[in-house]
Amino acid sequence: MLTVAAASNIPRSLLGLTFVELEREMIASGLSPVHARTVWRAVQRDLVKDFGAAEYFSPPLRRWLTENFGAGKRFFMEAPIETADIASGDGLTRKFLLRLADGQTIETVLMGFKGRHTVCVSTQAGCAMGCVFCATGQMGFVRQLQPGEIVAQVHHAQRALHAAGHAGLRNLVLMGMGEPLHNYDAVMTALEIISERGGLNIGPSKITISTVGVVPGILRMAAEQRPYHLAVSLHGATETERAALVPASRRWPLAELMAACRTYFSQTRRQIFFEWTLIAGMNDSPAQAERLAALLTGLDAHVNLIPLNPTNGFAGIATLTAAAKSFQKILQASGIPSTVRQRRGIDVAAGCGQLRAEKSQTETSTRGN
Ligand code: SAH
Ligand code: SF4
Repeated sequence: MLTVAAASNIPRSLLGLTFVELEREMIASGLSPVHARTVWRAVQRDLVKDFGAAEYFSPPLRRWLTENFGAGKRFFMEAPIETADIASGDGLTRKFLLRLADGQTIETVLMGFKGRHTVCVSTQAGCAMGCVFCATGQMGFVRQLQPGEIVAQVHHAQRALHAAGHAGLRNLVLMGMGEPLHNYDAVMTALEIISERGGLNIGPSKITISTVGVVPGILRMAAEQRPYHLAVSLHGATETERAALVPASRRWPLAELMAACRTYFSQTRRQIFFEWTLIAGMNDSPAQAERLAALLTGLDAHVNLIPLNPTNGFAGIATLTAAAKSFQKILQASGIPSTVRQRRGIDVAAGCGQLRAEKSQTETSTRGN
């Protein structure tokens, strides 16, 4: 077991500390709290990587950084290496492959429309949940990402936007590789950092957490009144149909999941998004749309219908546009709003399958009756 002294020698990531933690660390090493604000802004708002160039730092702060920041010292910053930057043919999506310090590679996707940009980040290397149609699930679980590794992806996307002459990010979705609620603490710390006003300032109402249906995580988000949007990936409206696509459904059965969604709704009064990957002949029939509508009765729900992105490990194919529209019409007749998400950027992200485009004119939304 680690002693407290030994634990405190473990290098800490400046990207992965909340403002309060950073302030505590800096006060403990003899600096005034005002310096914490300066460092926080430099790191989280101005995206400074090299403190040597930050001339506006006062001499005591510069001394502190020289003593405490860098290889083998108390603090470090993740610096993932970009190994690919692929733009989609329509120019609206860019997918980055980032290599982490231990060689693991993760995906971060930047999506933009009319100057409004969304970043889609990964929360794990691989995923333990094994959804049959998902490239990440087919890969299996490798490891959890640290808060700093999640924040670093947002920094990467923000820098890319600035370099292209755009304003900053508007929205964040946790729909990249991994299951966010299977890495709960790291994800919540990262979101606190990302939404902090003096830093990246992506407000909680601009952040969506997508989960395969980790029931304890959903209940914990409700109990802790986490202010983010929740999206639940359903894909099937009966236990058997869902479990065939989402093995995690055996651990957290559909009935339990829906009960958790109802608890979440009654405790937060917040609309829940439900994701439904449309697979031809598997979950796109009118009868299945009827069952989904029945399942969501009484909830403030919005359904995102995502035609399947083909992956090597799964033989299914995407639903045809006409079937997607009929599915949507049935939901609408039951008063359930939905959006068919364009597979925008599919040419760069076919193997990822986790793109979610920003709301745009090219999407077909219905409000329900
Ligand atoms: N683990 C979380 C978040 C990451 S996946 C979750 O499952 O919700 C984000 C979304 O992409 C999920 O709704 C998931 O079902 C969907 N997805 C994964 N692979 C896909 C594919 N090949 N085609 C279409 N959607 C896919
Ligand atoms: Fe994991 Fe989500 Fe992929 Fe399922 S869809 S395997 S939960 S990343």
